[in-house]
Amino acid sequence: MKTATVGYPCIGKNREVKKALEAFWSGKLEAESLLQTIREVEEASWKTQLVAGIDRIGIGDATLYDRVLDWTVRLGLIPQRFQQLTGLARYFAMARGKEEIPALEMTKWFDTNYHYLVPEINSDLLPADFGDYLETVSRAQKLVGKKAIPIVLGPMTLLRLSRLEVPMSEVISQLGERYLALLTALKDLGVEEVQMHEPALVLGNAEDLKEAFESTYDLLSRVGIPLHLVTYFDDLGKTYPWVIKLPVAAISLDFTRGNNLELIKQHGFPRDKRLGVGIVDARNIWQIRTDKVLPLLSDIQTLATNISLQPSASLQFVPHDATREKQLPKPLRNVLSFAEQKLQEVRFLARTISGENTRIEQDLIDSNWEAFYQFSPANQSVRDRLKALTAKDFARSLPYQERIRQQVKLPPFPTTTIGSFPQTQQVRKLRSRWRKGELTQEQYQAAIDAHIAYCVDLQEGMGMDVLVHGEFERSDMVEYFAEQLEGYTFTVHGWVQSYGSRYVRPPIIFGDISRPQPMTVREFKIAQSYTSKPVKGMLTGPVTMLNWSYPRTDLSRKEQAFQIALAIREEVADLEAAGALFVQVDEPAMREGLPLKQTRWNEYLSWATDAFRLCTAVAKPQTQVHTHMCYSEFGDIMESIKQLDADVISIEDSRSNNETLRQLTEAGYPRQVGPGVYDVHSPAIPTAESLTEGLRKCYQHLPTEQIWVNPDCGLKTRRWEEVIPAIRNMVKAAIALRQEIESTTVKFPVEFTAKESVTVENQSKTAQ
Ligand code: GLN
Ligand code: ZN
Repeated sequence: MKTATVGYPCIGKNREVKKALEAFWSGKLEAESLLQTIREVEEASWKTQLVAGIDRIGIGDATLYDRVLDWTVRLGLIPQRFQQLTGLARYFAMARGKEEIPALEMTKWFDTNYHYLVPEINSDLLPADFGDYLETVSRAQKLVGKKAIPIVLGPMTLLRLSRLEVPMSEVISQLGERYLALLTALKDLGVEEVQMHEPALVLGNAEDLKEAFESTYDLLSRVGIPLHLVTYFDDLGKTYPWVIKLPVAAISLDFTRGNNLELIKQHGFPRDKRLGVGIVDARNIWQIRTDKVLPLLSDIQTLATNISLQPSASLQFVPHDATREKQLPKPLRNVLSFAEQKLQEVRFLARTISGENTRIEQDLIDSNWEAFYQFSPANQSVRDRLKALTAKDFARSLPYQERIRQQVKLPPFPTTTIGSFPQTQQVRKLRSRWRKGELTQEQYQAAIDAHIAYCVDLQEGMGMDVLVHGEFERSDMVEYFAEQLEGYTFTVHGWVQSYGSRYVRPPIIFGDISRPQPMTVREFKIAQSYTSKPVKGMLTGPVTMLNWSYPRTDLSRKEQAFQIALAIREEVADLEAAGALFVQVDEPAMREGLPLKQTRWNEYLSWATDAFRLCTAVAKPQTQVHTHMCYSEFGDIMESIKQLDADVISIEDSRSNNETLRQLTEAGYPRQVGPGVYDVHSPAIPTAESLTEGLRKCYQHLPTEQIWVNPDCGLKTRRWEEVIPAIRNMVKAAIALRQEIESTTVKFPVEFTAKESVTVENQSKTAQ
């Protein structure tokens, strides 16, 4: 029984690639040293896979920024604006932009948290150049010999993910020729097989690629090198019957997601092809469970004659090595499985199903799980509360039209922000000193409070209507809450690439979630004590908490989201009790959690909106519930957005030319919307005039009383020098608009006085 891999982490066990990249960008490292770093990291990964006993090692997925970009460049798909540049300068300009030249657009890779750069394809191509790639493959051959199997991003997936500026039929033949040349060169190197990664096949709309797939693979098969068609992230769905007939030597399917098993049972699997069985979950960090995986494997064995085993996708989605997490309690650490452990699991499964006696290893896995469940038993009170939920728990006590009458009256075009204010070096340093124990809790909080004071003062001075505390105490909107909830754990070395040199360490949900104590009330109270304007309480929603963590596998995602929702619900109630009349529950990840196939959307959307409602329905009618979503594109999930029943939704709309707003209005969105009047991702400071103009446009779309004025996302990545004039201009724009409509609207008095005044001792009201 042979084993394979289809991709491996390539950021370096100690984030070497990130460090080298950042040194290179700041001019402290030569290009040659940067390239040397990436070579060392990829060679280390080949050796790890070789030593683990993998038979077919996927080669060529190490990247300086993004794998899709690597193929875009190799294939010569260089948009005009980058054509005068060359080499690394061009590569990084495409990735990150350069002075006047905007970068390629970045978006999420399928339903993962990895981001790729979207190729733009027009007819004006440059010649292809596979030099770097062929060099990598021959280097790998020297190290691992015949086990080196090149990984190639398949032409159809590349096209599907691209922004096509010419008809597909026009590029397809040109692209086909280029892939032909690549495969011919790989054949000349003597490789035994080439992995063609075509995850686009699992998308719901892959049906319409049938003919293009057939003709392209017909062409590519003429090179005479065995092709291995690799798919992952879901089952093949409707495409299965024709995909299995493509002229390839092997097809890999994901058996950890979707239902490929059922498809094989229905349609059979061809005897003349090898089936790559993606059996070890590459998207999560839990060890296999023998009682689940062994029966599944024997099922598969009866259905296909020639199979080999592998992780379900590239292991880039998990960190390197769980054994390094020495700080974690043993019963927990022992059931974690990162890339190195997953290689072992693949080998273990291969040995087991080929008849080797692996009883001892099986017993060890089983006893690890037993020990884990003893260490982390169910939290019965959380389970009971979930069982006792009724429809009432998911609905606000009054309908929107009635509750808004009880909510704080604000002037038309009320202004607010999305929550965070600049996370300066100074703020980050504070946090790291506190974590290291160099600051006491009191010292740390006093310093945070000084930032809050500064931020509140500033917003008040600029004339904002609904203030925020600034989120200075939060490193990350998920981690901050996860750290305070029971049932979550964290790694020290568990980095995975999000994009370029940005790596994240997703928290791990390992047990039932509960909230031992309030998480945000202290900072809210401090902020409110400094002002008589209303301060908005800021929370992260359950769906985002779940989507940006590694979930557990023994409970459904819905149940986990509901558990988190219950915890956040308690926080909403506590904020309210502390005097908050505005509470925002952010759900930026709501949309990205959509399943890849539209047929499964309803199921997801129904529990996702329920989870949101479960945590917000507790709010009294007079409490105004806000939510925020970035990466909007709501067109297709509009009904669910309405279902959330939030009083106000702020969206990221500044880059899409009010497209989302248009969709909301066309759908007759009945509540208030903050369209996001300027792009926080750009350092450019919007002028009051441009903002007024932008607002005027919104106001054609929506009745005045439904419009809020806010930036399109949090301000944490910006500098104060950018934020202050931008917000000032935003307020000016709101005031200008108020004057324009004055004659036609009744004036709302601002009727808010802080309920509670908290005295904060020993605090200077200025933070530097
Ligand atoms: N409240 C968060 C912030 O302002 C929201 C971030 C987000 O939408 N990603 O930072
Ligand atoms: Zn946002």
